[in-house]
Amino acid sequence: MSKDRTHCRKGHELTPENTKIKRNRGRPWTACLTCHRATVARNGKLYKQRHPEKYREIQRRAKQRRRAAHLTKPVVITPEQNRAYRAVWVAIQRGLLVRGPCGVCGDMPAQAHHPHGYGPESQLDVVWLCPSHHKRTHLDAA
Ligand SMILES: [Zn+2]
Ligand SMILES: [Zn+2]
Ligand SMILES: [Zn+2]
Repeated sequence: MSKDRTHCRKGHELTPENTKIKRNRGRPWTACLTCHRATVARNGKLYKQRHPEKYREIQRRAKQRRRAAHLTKPVVITPEQNRAYRAVWVAIQRGLLVRGPCGVCGDMPAQAHHPHGYGPESQLDVVWLCPSHHKRTHLDAA
């Protein structure tokens, strides 16, 4: 067989746009993107036909992962916010503030949420929320 690297075995032209870099035990090699896509689609279809429950389960997990990624996007903490959290922490250490259960679901441990902002006058004006309700509150407010 001739080593024709301009066309794939099925005769598709291997242009830069139609080339897929695959890896075989870490070694990269070029494959035809048209054929690669056809194989992926065929395998997906076959899998769906043979294992409909498993296929649905995989789709469901992928959806959950996408949702989780959205919920765990990094939260930026401002210096003012940081000072407020510190003030809450100090107040708890001194017994001026008592950590309560989540105000929504009653879960422990709860985090201090500042419904009136992080200014000096409202640093200790907090409600208690479990991590998931706290996150949700901030996402709803954003
Ligand atoms: Zn091809
Ligand atoms: Zn909660
Ligand atoms: Zn909060």
